[in-house]
Amino acid sequence: MRPSDRLVPPAWMDDGPTRRLFAALGAGGIAARFVGGCVRNAVLGRAIDDIDLAVDKPPETVIAALGAAGIKAIPTGVKHGTVTAIADGRTFELTTLRRDVETDGRRAVVAFTDDWLEDAARRDFTFNALYADPDGTLYDPFEGRADLATGRVRFIGDADRRIAEDRLRVLRFFRFHAWYGRPPVDALGFDACRRNAGTLGALSGERVSKELLRLLEAPAPVDALEAMAEAGALDRWLPEYAGTVRLRALIARETRPDKLRRLAAILPADADATTIGKRLKLSTQESLRLGVMLAHDPVLDLAGGPRAWRAGIYRLGTRLYVDRLLLAVDTPGDWRGALALAESWTPPELPVSGGDALELGLAPGPRIGALISAVEDWWVAGDFAAGRAACLAELARLAKAS
Ligand code: ATP
Ligand code: MG
Repeated sequence: MRPSDRLVPPAWMDDGPTRRLFAALGAGGIAARFVGGCVRNAVLGRAIDDIDLAVDKPPETVIAALGAAGIKAIPTGVKHGTVTAIADGRTFELTTLRRDVETDGRRAVVAFTDDWLEDAARRDFTFNALYADPDGTLYDPFEGRADLATGRVRFIGDADRRIAEDRLRVLRFFRFHAWYGRPPVDALGFDACRRNAGTLGALSGERVSKELLRLLEAPAPVDALEAMAEAGALDRWLPEYAGTVRLRALIARETRPDKLRRLAAILPADADATTIGKRLKLSTQESLRLGVMLAHDPVLDLAGGPRAWRAGIYRLGTRLYVDRLLLAVDTPGDWRGALALAESWTPPELPVSGGDALELGLAPGPRIGALISAVEDWWVAGDFAAGRAACLAELARLAKAS
């Protein structure tokens, strides 16, 4: 693989921890290059998530070289060639050059190789097969840099074949389009995704939801999502998909992306959060939050002004109130005012409790809960003005009356 260009290396590519790692690998006779997302993002001047390196020797050799230099090595996935190195507090994922021996659409059997081009050819998209040396020397065997510049997500090799090897690539195609693409989507890739959308059922819910949520998290996910739906790539995993009208409105309102809230924005009002949560393997907490975001109850009264806003914030809690508020794009009222209030006002605690009811001489039982809840309704309706004494009086009054 020949160098194609040079980039000004970002700090992490050439600083203390990186030099220490490369020195250790070099002493062990191992050649290493940065690869994948970190190089792609370095080219774009964007922040990076994780640092991946390709190495030309098997994991045992890598572990030995790291050990000899006193760098912590974790055998993360030795069978697949991956070792995690921690040098001066920084984590690097080192993976031995590989080629596919066998693929079944989901999992590949790989063999190690010392051929950089073979390793590049098994990667998914041209701009994900960029490699770099610490001094910024760039290797770009499939002209991924040009595709990055024009926002084209291009499969390496024949798209249908690449998807047959690993169906997840359909979802990755749209996810990378959301982050790095520019409309229109690459026609060859799109057509192949559409032809293969029917095979996505074989994927696992975890992997699908990870891709979908990462797509939704992109600064501008609408085009990619619409293309994904048009290709039929949502049919199996999100048949509830209801278009992007509310998502567009949500994006115009929100100050930072929230993937789960954006998911709620592409679902119809009657969607069942539990079913979706199970299918997409969301955590219990995420499912519950999705449920509240989709719920009709309590009704959000944005036109009711600060009094109604405070009642809503109290009932839902600040975070969920903000979710509902940002999603309520068809609800009339001053949503900006309500949002500002939610961000500045801390809901008070009800000044009376079940213990107070017992002290009034009431017998323990469900009636106490009902009375406290009635006092709460009265207190909320009075805009939280009543203090403890007034609440106690109301409790006594209600207890006597019932
Ligand atoms: P990011 O981590 O920012 O999402 P990334 O490019 O690092 O982007 P990863 O999923 O971390 O994405 O994968 C690292 C690299 O491994 C990719 O850049 C790509 O070269 C390769 N890769 C990952 N998954 C696949 C796949 N399903 N098919 C082919 N190559 C893949
Ligand atoms: Mg990565």
